Amino acid sequence: MTPAQKRQKRKKALSRKGGILDKTWSRAVIVAADGCCAICGIRPDRPNPHHLIRKSRGKRFRWVFDNGVCLCFTHHTGGAEAAHAGGLAFAEAFQEKYPERAAWYSQANRDNKVLGPWKPSLEELEEIRKELEEIIEDLS
Ligand SMILES: [Zn+2]
Repeated sequence: MTPAQKRQKRKKALSRKGGILDKTWSRAVIVAADGCCAICGIRPDRPNPHHLIRKSRGKRFRWVFDNGVCLCFTHHTGGAEAAHAGGLAFAEAFQEKYPERAAWYSQANRDNKVLGPWKPSLEELEEIRKELEEIIEDLS
């Protein structure tokens, strides 16, 4: 196998593992909330796991359990007060209900900027997957 083929193979394996981690992270966030929206408390048919620090901001917090909040569609993307609506309504509601988590978010957000990009190995990703599975098991 050429070095280019090896890089390609590793990239594929990382991508596959990332997909598995996305699903595991989502499951952990939903199970922890018992499927209920953190803002309005309803239990929707399809709970939406939301990243406090957006996925587009890098991988460092993408699969961190504390970075996840279970929301209904309205509070995730579907309404004026949604997390992704871009206004202050969600941030204010979240801050009021979960001051400690809001503080965690602010700190993690600063750390994310300071620490910059993160390129985890397959082994690191597998460790994260195991930790998330343990969280799911503990909460189920
Ligand atoms: Zn809601």
